[in-house]
Amino acid sequence: MVHADRVSKSFGSNRVLKSISLTVKRGEVLCLVGPSGSGKSTFLRCINHLERVDAGRLTVDGVLVGYEERGDKLYELHPKEAARQRRDIGMVFQRFNLFPHMTALENIVEAPIRVKGVKKADAVARARELLARVGLAEKADAYPAHLSGGQQQRVAIARALAMDPKLMLFDEPTSALDPELVGEVLDVMKTLAESGMTMIVVTHEMGFAREVADSLVFMDGGVVVESGDPVEVLGNPQHKRTQAFLSKVL
Ligand code: ATP
Ligand code: MG
Repeated sequence: MVHADRVSKSFGSNRVLKSISLTVKRGEVLCLVGPSGSGKSTFLRCINHLERVDAGRLTVDGVLVGYEERGDKLYELHPKEAARQRRDIGMVFQRFNLFPHMTALENIVEAPIRVKGVKKADAVARARELLARVGLAEKADAYPAHLSGGQQQRVAIARALAMDPKLMLFDEPTSALDPELVGEVLDVMKTLAESGMTMIVVTHEMGFAREVADSLVFMDGGVVVESGDPVEVLGNPQHKRTQAFLSKVL
């Protein structure tokens, strides 16, 4: 589903991703962990072409991200085409970016109606279904300010799912939450994983990684230092840098 082959990315002279290669198969969950500044968010942003890859190939479902290949040359997609690609990829951020002036339900139906042209009644019915799925059926008419951080984040997940993504990207979805609210969000993500969604999750929640992820990738300084089965990597890290990082977060 996601295939990165020697993906590199610099900001000016700062080489942020240095030849990253990894694969996520359909239905799998990959957890991406690593210290601050290691390039995790940049990598996620490359997957939906919010950042431009400088070198290497990045494909989602076999389709090159952000570029079109003609002959042996690559041409960047028109922003409209890039946006079309992005529709199939759901993203959830650290900060729940809900529209504050819209209710939970309105937040969820907005993109399906405006971007996909779904009929309002259908979008509302689907949104209610999704709210029930994230345990918030009774909060349809609540505004974000009246929801807890955990509830807001669950609405953000429902909102992403409303676009029927084939892939979900999570960038530290629980790090801005009070500790007692982390579990409810991870539970929703776990259920989503069990339903067969393909997911890439940047997280420091090693319990989640161990229990839910099919593979774990440890990044540091823009390179993949170590990757593999989460239980093995977490239980028996091979590299000093992985060991040092894990001793801090575990
Ligand atoms: P964190 O755990 O703190 O979120 P991260 O692993 O997600 O870190 P990135 O946000 O990907 O790291 O940043 C990697 C490097 O790229 C950092 O040195 C950062 O300063 C730099 N960087 C990220 N985005 C930009 C940008 N838009 N312009 C310039 N430099 C950037
Ligand atoms: Mg980040």
